[in-house]
Amino acid sequence: METDMSVKVLTTENPWSSSEIQKAQLEDPATRPILERKLNSKDRPSWQEIAPESPAAKQYWPFWDSLHLKHGVLYHKWESEDGSSCRWQLILPKSRIQELLRETHDSASGGHFGVMKTLSKTRELFYWDRLRADVEKWCRECHACGARKGPKTRTKGRLQRYNVGAPSERMALDILGTFSLTKKVNRYVLVLMDYFTKWPEAITNPDQEALTLAEELVLTDFALWRTYDITFGSKYKF
Ligand SMILES: [Zn+2]
Repeated sequence: METDMSVKVLTTENPWSSSEIQKAQLEDPATRPILERKLNSKDRPSWQEIAPESPAAKQYWPFWDSLHLKHGVLYHKWESEDGSSCRWQLILPKSRIQELLRETHDSASGGHFGVMKTLSKTRELFYWDRLRADVEKWCRECHACGARKGPKTRTKGRLQRYNVGAPSERMALDILGTFSLTKKVNRYVLVLMDYFTKWPEAITNPDQEALTLAEELVLTDFALWRTYDITFGSKYKF
């Protein structure tokens, strides 16, 4: 079974084979009518032939001459206006879109970049009729990106020096995450540090709600401290 190289680049753990992709393209109503006709003829079908097909399939019809088969799989050949560069974009079947966007946006190599970078990375090797809309929606609804941005009306504190003369006078807290869900259903880490001794503590948490964090604080050794002077890091202001 031949592995499609352009797909292999982005899905190193589980490369898609050409026959798998062809099967998925034939199951997708957007690509099936074009692929079936490409497999049978070099001539573009008439509009009357394509008219009963889905709106997505009809969007591909004007690009008939730019659509080509490689190992029986439908590709779009993109060429720059001056013809100096071209690239082959796999026409991605709907059933593979989520898997691909997880790879181009969510994975370690995806890096949760914004819409424009995710778009250009996706377009390097892939094309489908609602590519831009799907990438925008994916980035907008990405939980990790939303959590990272935090509240919109964040007030910036003035930088200042804090003097502490003894352990347990003041501690700093911050939340790290979002991480992959653990077996104990935790996604976040509450990090505490004593200003004076620099003693750190790290406590896993299922969420970053104030009530959960307060409960965790009560359970820690920090709860025995004589002074509660809590400084939250980037996300919380008290
Ligand atoms: Zn993201």
